[in-house]
Amino acid sequence: MQKVIVIGGGIGGLATACILARKGYEVSLYEKNKTLGGRANIFEAEGFCFDMGPSWYLMPDIFENFFSFMGEKVEDHLELIRLAPSYRIFFKDDNKIVDMFSDLDKDIPTLEELEPGAGDKLREYLDKAKQQYEIAKDGFMYKNYNSIFDFINFRTMIEGSKLSVFSDMDRYVSKYFKHPLVKKILQYPLVFLGSSPYNTPALYSIMNHIDFNMGVFYPQGGMYTITEALVNIAQKNGVNIVSGMGVKQIVVENRKAIGVELESREIVKADIVVSNADMTHTELSLLASAHRQYDEAYWEKKVLAPSALIMYLGVKGKVDSLVHHNLLFSQDWKTNFEQIFDDPMWPDDPSMYVCAPSKTDPNVAPEGDENLFVLVPIAAGLEYSEEELDSYANKVLAIMQSEMNIPDLNERIIYKRLYSVKNFEQDYNAYKGTALGLAHTINQTAIFRPNNYSKKVKNLYYVGAGTNPGIGVPIQLISAEMVYKRIAGINQDSPLTE
Ligand SMILES: Cc1cc2nc3c(=O)[nH]c(=O)nc-3n(C[C@H](O)[C@H](O)[C@H](O)COP(=O)(O)OP(=O)(O)OC[C@H]3O[C@@H](n4cnc5c(N)ncnc54)[C@H](O)[C@@H]3O)c2cc1C
Repeated sequence: MQKVIVIGGGIGGLATACILARKGYEVSLYEKNKTLGGRANIFEAEGFCFDMGPSWYLMPDIFENFFSFMGEKVEDHLELIRLAPSYRIFFKDDNKIVDMFSDLDKDIPTLEELEPGAGDKLREYLDKAKQQYEIAKDGFMYKNYNSIFDFINFRTMIEGSKLSVFSDMDRYVSKYFKHPLVKKILQYPLVFLGSSPYNTPALYSIMNHIDFNMGVFYPQGGMYTITEALVNIAQKNGVNIVSGMGVKQIVVENRKAIGVELESREIVKADIVVSNADMTHTELSLLASAHRQYDEAYWEKKVLAPSALIMYLGVKGKVDSLVHHNLLFSQDWKTNFEQIFDDPMWPDDPSMYVCAPSKTDPNVAPEGDENLFVLVPIAAGLEYSEEELDSYANKVLAIMQSEMNIPDLNERIIYKRLYSVKNFEQDYNAYKGTALGLAHTINQTAIFRPNNYSKKVKNLYYVGAGTNPGIGVPIQLISAEMVYKRIAGINQDSPLTE
């Protein structure tokens, strides 16, 4: 029985531990924090229960694949509710409010009202996005990349389907739609990838298939129930989970990973080490310089996904103007993205996302009150004082009051916690406090994204948002499967079924 150590108990680390234990490896997982889940974490305060990170349950098919691969059923672990509407958008432009349902019969009239003729174009656009999603799922989303020839095959596969997906999302969407609000609706899902429409390949129009055709779900009890489900499956398969114990370094002998040194200074031996900690942290802090594949200059040049200003708010009474997921888009879309990616500063005219899970779930707030999670994307590495953070948070609250029709919000806040760049750095060892990892630019996609094994240290592997396929909770289930394929020498591009 080969011994495996997994560093980090995020979704990718837990899922890897589940798979490897089920496949007969002896697995121990070490997580530096007291609670598991990584960015998919939770905390409770004053009767409110806050999901700290993810709040959108997307790509239900990927969860189905993973649970069935583990010999489990999603419905035995998660009580999924399909949200209707999927989300509400508040446009600043003319105080317009639009509900989107992931149901074309309802969504097409909404888009037609903004741009006559957009309905037919949407059908055509989504047909291509669906086709693209299917090619991606069966051809390259679950694929391990080994050489540049893999990229050539990948390009041939995509070009062959004539989807011109190597232009950027902004240009691609503009070929179909003219109205700025319609374009924003098609481009906003890129924030899930930590990317901007101006630097993301149009391949990611697959996000529109996920959004419009597949629906938005919520697991009753909160997103943390996904973490709990993985912990249950891991324990059922015999994983030894140790939380509150960080790894200090990866022990390497003769260019082979032979175990880890824990923060307690104990050395634990293993045949294989899989790191779910952010790759930058693993490479720069857990490996001696001789064993690093990439130095600091390499990471400096990478395009990081944004960090965020997050507010966890407990609000007295209900907020009637909101639904479960709510988006408020910046008017000057391009400048907003520039202030996040190119010229870091507090956005003048921020886009924001407000989740009110208490609209669907009575367990996350005291009866009659509202649990609000407010997220404003900001630049990774943004420096600020506590006063600046507070004052920007107040600006965001003022915008919510006026633009989201919550005039008395400030007086009704009974709990408030701010979370931003420095917290991501401290809690998850996130490079420059990025909330999500590496953005999905063309140079950071597929073969060009850091690979899931070390070319310098044998038996050292990586899983998580920093490697392939990328960012997102379901995506980590794929990342885990890919690392298992890599370890077990399985050369299959499509998802595994057993
Ligand atoms: C605010 C926010 C909102 C999001 N919204 C969504 C959403 O709605 N839907 C969605 O699908 N995705 C969403 N995401 C993205 C998704 O949550 C992440 O992509 C995913 O959870 C990352 O998982 P991971 O496997 O990369 O591990 P991570 O969550 O990054 O976990 C890595 C773990 O390693 C641990 N670690 C680090 N260093 C060490 C060490 N030295 N020793 C031991 N342990 C260590 C960390 O503490 C952490 O627990 C969101 C993320 C954030 C932050």
